Amino acid sequence: QAKAQGKGRFVVFDHSMNVQAMQRLEMESELRTAIEQGQLVLNYQPIVDIPTGRLREVEVLVRWNHPQRGLVPPDDFIPLAEETGLICPIGYWVLYHACAQLREWQVNFRHFRDLGISVNVSGRQLYQTDFVASVRAVLAKFVIDPHRLKLEITESAMLNDLEKMTEVLQELRNMGVRIAIDDFGTGYSSMAYLSRLPVDTLKIDRTFVRPLGEDTRVDGVVRAMITMARTLGLDVTSEGIETNEQLLVLQSLGCDCGQGFLFAKPLPACEITLLLASPRDEPVLAKVTV
Ligand code: C2E
Ligand code: MG
Ligand code: MG
Ligand code: MG
Repeated sequence: QAKAQGKGRFVVFDHSMNVQAMQRLEMESELRTAIEQGQLVLNYQPIVDIPTGRLREVEVLVRWNHPQRGLVPPDDFIPLAEETGLICPIGYWVLYHACAQLREWQVNFRHFRDLGISVNVSGRQLYQTDFVASVRAVLAKFVIDPHRLKLEITESAMLNDLEKMTEVLQELRNMGVRIAIDDFGTGYSSMAYLSRLPVDTLKIDRTFVRPLGEDTRVDGVVRAMITMARTLGLDVTSEGIETNEQLLVLQSLGCDCGQGFLFAKPLPACEITLLLASPRDEPVLAKVTV
């Protein structure tokens, strides 16, 4: 009986493996055509200057508008895109369309011409030989000051091949492009690595922001991160701010910028356009002025 059970279990397991493999294959082939079929869409999440409450930049976040499945979040297809290499054409599409959008905003809203965009980039893109050249070309095409572009790279991707990464990041920074370490605090980078990486911004992961004000030990960890960032000459953005209390703690710790549902969710371009229609010298995200 035990044998029969074991066999049965094996068959069930095998079957579900097949289903999974089939779904993956199907998704991969669908993802291949997603760009051509115009199924990728971009959302933009405001990043706010904490002391003034002004809109500083927007983070560009991709979604996949799947004909049957509806809006697929990036966590459900970026890993597959990374494995298959599809992240390179997808990443280029994102950069190109985000820059086109920024150009349109700059032309239409002169008082917001220093607005920046922050674009997520996978490690795999950075290892492409023509990556730096393609960034330069897109910026030139849309007449965008390289300072207005920030590239976000996760801490773990950065530490993968430190030497190569440092070289590519340095080239990008020489051009004027800014670099952020995304999801900071989750990738175990040491002070030694950090001081060697050519970066401008630390983005504190939202797992550290969530307990702020409730767990004083976490407040201390975030304070230490901000102090360390200052020592290295970096500025700090905190992600995942959802409550006023979290914002107040971050404000008291001297965090530069914040992002999260308290200010705004990731929004379609037309809603950012509405925000930009308000005067530059008024805080556009009123909740910040507590
Ligand atoms: P990320 O770069 O860390 O982006 C922040 C994520 O946190 C976004 O999820 C955003 O919607 C979410 N978020 C923002 N504020 C809050 C908040 O207050 N509370 C909570 N609970 N969540 C908040 P999203 O859009 O689902 O993106 C997930 C991840 O997918 C991103 O994490 C990024 O790593 C990746 N991703 C998105 N777009 C791209 C892309 O164009 N290229 C690449 N390579 N990765 C991308
Ligand atoms: Mg990011
Ligand atoms: Mg992040
Ligand atoms: Mg994150």
